[in-house]
Formats: sequence, structure tokens, C-alpha cells
Amino acid sequence: MRVGVWATIAGAAAGAALFLVAQPAIPDPQAPIDGFAPAHVAAQHEVEQRIASTISTRRLEANHRFLTAEPHVAGSLRDRTLAEWTRDQWIAAGLDSVEIVEHRVLLPYPHDASVEMIAPASVWHAQLREHPDAPLAFHAYGASGDVTGSVVTAGIGAPADFDRLAASGVDLHGKIVLVRYPANYSYRGYVVYLAQQRGAAAVLMYASHSDDAPDAAIQRGGVGFDFIEPGDPPPAARPTIISLPISTRDARVILDAMHGGDVTLRVRVNNDEATRPIWTVIGRINGAAYPDQWVIAGNHRDAWMYGGVDPSSGSTALMELARTLGSLVRNGARPKRTILLASWDAEEYAMTSSTEWTEQHELELREHAVAYLNVDAAVSGSTFFARAVPSLAHLVASTAGVDDSAIETRIGAGSDYTAFLNFAGVPIVDMRFQGPYPVYHSAYDTHGWVTRIDPGFARHAQLTRIWATAATRLANADVLPLDHVRYAHRIAGFLVEVERRWGAPLRVASGALARFDAAASRHGDAAAAALADGNAGALELINRALMEVEPSFIDAAGLDGRPWYRHLLYAPAFSYQPEVLPGLSDAVESRDPDRVAEAERRLAAALDRAAACLKVFTTFPGSRAS
Ligand SMILES: [Zn+2]
Repeated sequence: MRVGVWATIAGAAAGAALFLVAQPAIPDPQAPIDGFAPAHVAAQHEVEQRIASTISTRRLEANHRFLTAEPHVAGSLRDRTLAEWTRDQWIAAGLDSVEIVEHRVLLPYPHDASVEMIAPASVWHAQLREHPDAPLAFHAYGASGDVTGSVVTAGIGAPADFDRLAASGVDLHGKIVLVRYPANYSYRGYVVYLAQQRGAAAVLMYASHSDDAPDAAIQRGGVGFDFIEPGDPPPAARPTIISLPISTRDARVILDAMHGGDVTLRVRVNNDEATRPIWTVIGRINGAAYPDQWVIAGNHRDAWMYGGVDPSSGSTALMELARTLGSLVRNGARPKRTILLASWDAEEYAMTSSTEWTEQHELELREHAVAYLNVDAAVSGSTFFARAVPSLAHLVASTAGVDDSAIETRIGAGSDYTAFLNFAGVPIVDMRFQGPYPVYHSAYDTHGWVTRIDPGFARHAQLTRIWATAATRLANADVLPLDHVRYAHRIAGFLVEVERRWGAPLRVASGALARFDAAASRHGDAAAAALADGNAGALELINRALMEVEPSFIDAAGLDGRPWYRHLLYAPAFSYQPEVLPGLSDAVESRDPDRVAEAERRLAAALDRAAACLKVFTTFPGSRAS
């Protein structure tokens, strides 16, 4: 899990306020469900009741204990064992088919590393591991090298910190920059990127912990520039300067020595540059009515260490999701659409296996994908948080029992939904229960930690229920619950923000947006009519049109300077903060009117493509036929 801290804090505040009023209630078996014909509502309520009664907290806890029994970094023997276990359990659960897909990717492990004080003292070495048996902590995709230099602190490593150093005349060339994380979620690769740009020779990072975490904890993690391109990294997506994560305890020794004057360190990093296999497990439940329409749910399996919260709280939920869906099938409630389950690998490196798999299946996804529902770290607290494209916000909110406004619709990057949304144009949801998480990516993120934050695994059960309910609503709906009127309104809000920065109306984009809004609205009316009539032929065309909207936002040429990111409404900023209307926004930032006109033209073309998909149906002559 790698998430921008800013979005997380904003989301937590919104979620905390609204989740309090939302205790799961016994659903009224007559209550309407979005997208379901009156004749099919009772059957879906029965599916949802069966989901609630099948999920077992005892099994969630037992599987979590097994998943976290040993460290299982991507590409390791234990990672492979857990992939095979996942496959075998899914087969036993009754999935129609399960396969393990292997990708061979650049996957460096640390060979050795050291941080040694040269001056003023010359007898001190940093520990670089929590305890003697823990593996060496390192930064995935960090450079190797041997640097001796004086230490400069740079706050939390934000652009403002580096600007402040520059303003006070500090030259970072040849220096070792010591940075404290602002919280547990900021993307460390951006800090390395900034330090590298300013000429630093090395970066050391430590987390500032609450009293809850041992000060020996070390936050491992990736530093690849996957805001340029995730997955098996091209050279441009790798740092050229060395970096290491260190513990608060070791940082304190360095900071104490700095009180007495200059401190010189020697930092050595030697990561192997090995290519290793990683394993994606893909399970499939064939849809009874529309097998070529896929609802996809996924979670990554690889962990920096034991992976108590990240990702095994999500992996045990995925396992329970598989058992629950398998049990529905065995009891005659096979979903109408196909459901695919994915256990991803090497997410912690660069969202690698989901990126490789999505690239490999790009054309099929464009044709078949309905939505991708991601869960990474499922439970680190008790506050429900979800991000989703605006078209799916209501589905998630109604399933979780929260207000629509609690769903975050600004989407950056940071977990396995990235390739689905930003590369393939698949509508996404990402959700969890969150809270303070000081053991993030350390050896202390264990089964024991998780049993403290979710005793009895009730939150895990709740998250699994929300996940399974959302998946089956998407899989069984007569009209897919994709609300493009809401999407259009959200884009209008984004456009106002960009216009404010530009200082003038962007009429080409807003004209196209009005056409998309009108087409979505007419399509919604036609869908409601077809639902009331039970017109199966019309419903099929309506759903086909709904599925074609999100891929319309993909521009094959990609964003300027990072062509892998191809979605024109969403991209991560380099900090991992969400950037909305990224192409247009970057152009406005450049203050170049020609660039702005070109970006506006591309955005308008995407919106017109989306409108055209929806128009295909509204002109269908038989939409009111019986
Ligand atoms: Zn994770």
C-alpha cells in the first residue's frame, strides 16, 4: 500500500464524520436496489443475506494467522507457497477455474548495506534491521553506491523543505539528506526524486512514530518513480542516488550528533539487480447469463515482512470473499456476470503484477471489464474509507451504508487499481477500514498487531460483506449501477478548479462536458424505461453502452512526459496526490495557450467519445417495445 497522506487525511475526516451514522442494518427485503428490476430485487436481497451469514470471523482470523506466519516478500519461496495455497483454497471453495500466472521482472533484493558515522565519532553503525533475525531493510528499486558526505536535514522532504534549504544557501551536492516522514503513508519515491533533482548524493528516511510503535521499527518500501510508469521499471522510473530507510532510534543518534556540529556519514548500498519470478493467482466464476462481462476483485499478497495489516488483512478478506462467492454458486445463486478474483504480487515494488497482467489483457479488459474492486490493507482501524470513480460512488456508499459524499472521488495512485484505471480505463473502487498505523511496512506489522486493532475480526467481516455485496450487485444488476450523470457533475467541478487557475473559461471542454452530461441523462431515462419494461434486448445494449464510457477517457497518446498514464480525468501527481484533469491541468500550469488549447481539444474529444457511446442506445428504435 502506498498512498498520498493528504488524500488519506481528507478522506479519513469525511469518513469518520459519516460512518458513525451507518451501522449495517438488516436490509428490507422489499427495498429497491439500484439497477435491479422489481422482479429481481428479492433474489438479490437473498444473495446479500446469504453473504452476511456465510462470512466467518473465525475463518478470517485463522487464515490471517496462516498468511502472516512468515515473511513473504515478492518472489520469495513463501510468496510462492502462499500463491499455491490460495489457488488450492479457491478450487476447494468452488471457483470454476484458477490459474497461477508467472511474470519474470526486475526484482532486486538487498545484498548488503551500511550506515557508518565517520565524524565526529567513528565507532557507530546504524542497525538497518529491527532485530538480528530480521532481513536487511532497504528501498526497492533504490540505486546501489558508496557515498561519504555530511548530513543535512530536510524536514519531511516536501518541495517546501528543499526550497527552504536552497533559500538559505545550502548546497545539497554531495550531501546526505536526512528526512522524516510526515506520517506513515507519504510516497517515499517522491522524496528521493526531489533530493536527486537538487543534487543530493543519498537519502536516509525515518518514520516519526507514535508511542505505540517500537522505535526500532523501520519503514521498508519502494522508491521507484512509478508516478512516471509502474510495473517492471524502465530506467527513467528508477532513482540514480542511493537511499535507505532507518529506524527512529538510529535517526536519533545522528540528530544528537548534529547538535554538536557537522556529522559525516558513509552510506553504502548494494542491491542485487536480479530478475525474479512473481505469481498472480487468477480465479474465475463464470457468469450464468453474461459470461463475457467481468467484475474483478483483487488484493496483493506480497508483504515487506509478515504483512499483518498490509496486505494480509486484505488477503484474508479476499479468501473469505472467494469462499462466500463459491458457496453462493454451490447453492444455486451463480452470478449473472463473470467474477474474476486476483491475488496480485510485487505490489510493494511497483504495483508490478497487476500492472503486468493489465497490460497483457488490455484489449480484453476494454471489451469485458465492468469494474475493478480493490482492497489492499483492509483493516488498520475502524473508520471506513473508500475512493471510487464518481460513477461507482453511489454503489459503494449504499453498500457500505455511508453517505454518497463520504466517497473520495479524487483518485491518485498507490495500489493495484492504478493500472486498471489509468492504463486500461476500467472504473475502480478501493476501500478499507483505516486508523493509526505506526507499524506500516515494519517487522512489527504482524498477526498480533491486527488482533489488537480488530479483536474478533468483526471489521474484517464487515469489509468482506461490503466487498461481496458490491461485487454481486455489479454481477447481477439488470442495469449496471454506473451513474454517468454523477460522473459528469464531478468533472464539471474539476473543470471549474482548472478554469480558476487558468483565469478564463475553457469553453471547448465545457461544451463537450455539457454534451456528455445530456447524453448520460437521456441514457439514464432510457435505462429506467427499459428496466420498467423488462426489455432484455434494450437492457443488453444499455449495459454495453455503460461499459464503453470509462475506456473513452483513455487517450492512446498518454499524458505529456509519461505516456503510460493515459486517463484524461485522473493521474497521480508525483507526490501521489490525486491530479484531476491531468493533461489540461499540466498545460494550464505551463501558461502556454497553445498547449492549453491542445489539451482542451483532447479532453473534449474524450468526452465526446463517451457521449457517443451513450447516444448509440438512446436512438435505438425499440427501446419502449415490450
Ligand atoms: Zn499493500
